[in-house]
Amino acid sequence: MAQAKKPLAAVPKPGPGQVAEIVTRLSAAVPAPKCELDHRDPWTLLVATILSAQSTDRTVNTVTPVLFEKWPTPQALAAAPREEVEAVVHRTGFFRNKAKAIQGASLAIHEQFGGVVPREMQKLLTLPGVARKTANVVLGVAFRIAEGVVVDTHVMRTSQRLGLSAATQADKVEHDLCGMLPREQWIDMGHRLLLLGRYVCLAKGPECENCPINEQCASRIGPPLGTWQQRAEHFGKLVESRGQAS
Ligand code: SF4
Repeated sequence: MAQAKKPLAAVPKPGPGQVAEIVTRLSAAVPAPKCELDHRDPWTLLVATILSAQSTDRTVNTVTPVLFEKWPTPQALAAAPREEVEAVVHRTGFFRNKAKAIQGASLAIHEQFGGVVPREMQKLLTLPGVARKTANVVLGVAFRIAEGVVVDTHVMRTSQRLGLSAATQADKVEHDLCGMLPREQWIDMGHRLLLLGRYVCLAKGPECENCPINEQCASRIGPPLGTWQQRAEHFGKLVESRGQAS
């Protein structure tokens, strides 16, 4: 199937009723989305999220068990020889920058925050390698604090196709999503848009016929199959079968 492509400004903005329907359908498909990055606490989540840039969660999940077994605390990771950390995170790509970032962030957490990941956006943004996406993942997943919406490449693409944002910069897309979604949905809907982009609204060849929100999407290619509930069930099963509990 061809790629869903319209000039961004030409994708009409959905009205409040359509946005509510998008929330209803995606919530039915994935009632309780979970982060696909393996982690055991806020610090391991933060490190895994930094490593996930330009990589896949699956790859990161093969690296972090080794990383955290060798260096199980922020203090230990901060003090590790840089070359050894680089070797462990190598396969996630951009390994020099990532090793520097996770060690820098771990050092700051150890020295400035008593070894505890802060729960405030402004403090998180002072950590090396941490921008709003990583901070929103940590706040939303580890603490259930809705300070914003996680915007990665999948959320950016699905938001643009749905007309939720015409922006091309992550912080502007986040701003638009925060304005269109109720705050209590910021965490979970960000996650659902990410999963939709990962499994249905693919960059190349979006599976519009199986998309539970086909009727709400001005970028759709072709008509939907079956009822939206059937498509939502299909999407939910896809998410579950690829390691995402619901
Ligand atoms: S119908 Fe669904 S899969 Fe197709 S472009 Fe829209 S959001 Fe993406």
